[in-house]
Amino acid sequence: MSKLLEGKTALVMGVANRWSIAYAISSAFVREGANLILTYQAERQKATVEELGTELGASKILMCDVTKQAELDGLAETLKASETTLDIVVHSIAFAKPEDLSRPYVETTREGYLLAQEVSAYSLVALSRMCAPLMPNGGSILTLSYLGAVRVVPNYNVMGVAKAALEASVRYLASDLGPANIRVNAISAGAIKTAAARGIKDFSKLLGGVAERSPLKRTTDPAEVADTAVFLGSNLGRGVTGNVIYVDAGYQIMGMQ
Ligand code: NAD
Repeated sequence: MSKLLEGKTALVMGVANRWSIAYAISSAFVREGANLILTYQAERQKATVEELGTELGASKILMCDVTKQAELDGLAETLKASETTLDIVVHSIAFAKPEDLSRPYVETTREGYLLAQEVSAYSLVALSRMCAPLMPNGGSILTLSYLGAVRVVPNYNVMGVAKAALEASVRYLASDLGPANIRVNAISAGAIKTAAARGIKDFSKLLGGVAERSPLKRTTDPAEVADTAVFLGSNLGRGVTGNVIYVDAGYQIMGMQ
């Protein structure tokens, strides 16, 4: 059987370690024949991401903090200089202060609110603007969201509000970039134990509840999220844009929580 992403180049942003959702997505992309380009946030992730990227056969491993416009511009310049064009862009990035993921939402500070929005939502807008000119053949931009965008999930707080902005951005970006045949979608992943998730108070309790109550009676495997990313990045997803696809063992349909 032919591979689904043969001949496609994918930029994946947000690998921090082997447990990152972006790592599962990168592995699936490589399995399906994609040329992989990875970015990491800062020096402290460099050694790990270089090791993982080398294992995966990534063609480039670059640093880019999405809150720094100069680093986004630098990334675009590096890709342009090597005449790289992109078919798939994965935004798997979020951050909020730990204190904003543990106390009541009403206590969120202005600074904490703006930080969560900048890193977790605005960065998709900046990234899409940067990448669109590098996608002359159209392509697929995807981001990662969570149920807390549309429902109150204990302690998700400011990140839920950022994910709501992210999901709305997906729709506006899909409308803007559709004429260039660039599709923009979000995968709303079920709860998965990663470094980012560990910052949310009582996260293990939340995982237990999902396993008990979801239709599939289990939590989400990152490989399931990754396979949906393959679908959205491939020609199979060519008719899908502006959507939020839930990969969560069905948890979001349940009324009794
Ligand atoms: P993770 O900690 O492995 O990944 C988060 C990534 O964001 C890290 O690589 C980190 O370096 C990066 N990042 C943070 N600030 C950045 C910045 N300024 N510039 C560049 N990169 C930055 O955790 P994860 O769970 O794999 O998170 C990936 C995405 O999936 C996030 O958007 C998260 O909200 C989303 N998500 C996670 C879950 C879950 O339960 N783990 C569920 C649904 C959605």
